[in-house]
Amino acid sequence: IKILICQGTGGISAGAKKVEAEFNRIIAEKGLSATVGKRCDIVKTGCRGLCANDVLVDIVDDKGCTTYDFVQPEEVAKLVEEHIVAGEPNEKRKAKPYYNKFVDAQRRIVMSGCGQIDAESLDAYLATDGFKAIEKCIKTMKPAEVTEEVKKSGLRGRGGGGFPTGLKWSFCAASPGHHKYIICNADEGDPGAFMDRSILEGDPYCLIEGMMIAGYAIGAQFGYVYVRAEYPLAIDRLQKAIDVCYEKGYLGKNCMGLGFEYDMRIKKGAGAFVCGEETALMASIEGERGMPRPRPPFPAVKGLWQHPSNINNVETFANVRHIINNGAEWYAAIGTETTKGTKIFAVTGKVKHTGLVEVPAGMKVREVIYDVCGGILNNRKFKAVQAGGPSGGCIPAEILDTPVDYDSLIKAGAMMGSGGLVVMDETTCMVDVSKFFLTFTRMESCGKCVPCRIGLKAMLDILIRITEGNGREGDLETLIDLGTTIKQASLCGLGQTAPNPVLSTIRYFRDEYEAHITDKR
Ligand code: SF4
Repeated sequence: IKILICQGTGGISAGAKKVEAEFNRIIAEKGLSATVGKRCDIVKTGCRGLCANDVLVDIVDDKGCTTYDFVQPEEVAKLVEEHIVAGEPNEKRKAKPYYNKFVDAQRRIVMSGCGQIDAESLDAYLATDGFKAIEKCIKTMKPAEVTEEVKKSGLRGRGGGGFPTGLKWSFCAASPGHHKYIICNADEGDPGAFMDRSILEGDPYCLIEGMMIAGYAIGAQFGYVYVRAEYPLAIDRLQKAIDVCYEKGYLGKNCMGLGFEYDMRIKKGAGAFVCGEETALMASIEGERGMPRPRPPFPAVKGLWQHPSNINNVETFANVRHIINNGAEWYAAIGTETTKGTKIFAVTGKVKHTGLVEVPAGMKVREVIYDVCGGILNNRKFKAVQAGGPSGGCIPAEILDTPVDYDSLIKAGAMMGSGGLVVMDETTCMVDVSKFFLTFTRMESCGKCVPCRIGLKAMLDILIRITEGNGREGDLETLIDLGTTIKQASLCGLGQTAPNPVLSTIRYFRDEYEAHITDKR
């Protein structure tokens, strides 16, 4: 019998450690293996997505898997007695049918290990075909063939820009020089987004393998993971996984005895949103202030310490082993014409079941909100969903059938970003929403270039004035004018996208702005 206890950050904050201790105590007390003849293994898993319902516990026996949600330490004794000793799952305490719907409506590839395996166990990872993909690459494929396979799969960067991953790898591979770097951007900074953290906490070895494959394809022997210090559990699990890989010969001078050299190290970031930008991130690793640099030169030519470097985010690297194991055609068959594979979304806000969902690209926004996440909280009316984090845009009800793929979201005035979806209902003021996001990006602006430093402040001043009932005629035109100019003239992605929430809410909810201005409220 296996008892899977969710021990991601969400699970632990809901009391998973106490629940685990109680299972351990009672199982030992009852001497279950000896007296009842049932061996119980407790597995500490990572996040399975529905953090709002933690502590989630699966009991897997010969009858199958039964999930219990909101488990408290006080009820563990009863669960053990009924389910494990008597062999009768407690029907009343089982996770409600929506849990199955939440799980069944998804297609989990990247997060297939999260919530299922012991995140700290190399053996558990090996049992999911772990390190088979890098072995296949080294033994049977030339580096250029690996890049070609990733190109054919259609994988695009999951960090926001959606640049084709294989093409990006080919640029760095073609750059002269023997000293190259693979960098993983784990500086997940969008408010509400936690997909990268969950992968690191729930399946850290898959990131290591993805980065090794990229290193083999590009000709790099060193990988940096840049992860924000606010993610202590993710850092701890990743560091343990790296240490075990060195100890067992999966990393180092001769990885798996196959003659491939690869080293890895974690660099903790201080949590600046702008350090998600490639050149700012590299400056931070180098010990400089995290500020973007003009491009060219591009990182593929002159990156970390002036050496060719390739940067992808956690979710992108986590896709790679599945592509190599199953083939580019398999991967390319999932998703839409221009966005292949699955995408993980962090769904938050006024929705019944908040959490992480992994769905095939192309699923409609409506399906994600209603079919997977159960619809709007308190059965209120849907108003809009903010897609793509603080730099994204708002999608109103009229275009709720927009497919979640890079191009459709951009056409709708939003963006995929790293995958944040903040759902709003009829009680939400859209002017407040745009002010909230602009306050965030304005605070996170590094101040290097004028359009972003001064322009965002000017926009925010107008928004504050409007929400305080002091809006003036012409304010909306000024906001549009400023927003458009900032997008065109800013140095980096932060400034180039920061006006999006304001521009998209003016586009779809202009009447709310006008009501604030004319009614002076
Ligand atoms: Fe800094 Fe903003 Fe300019 Fe980016 S756009 S370099 S964040 S001031």
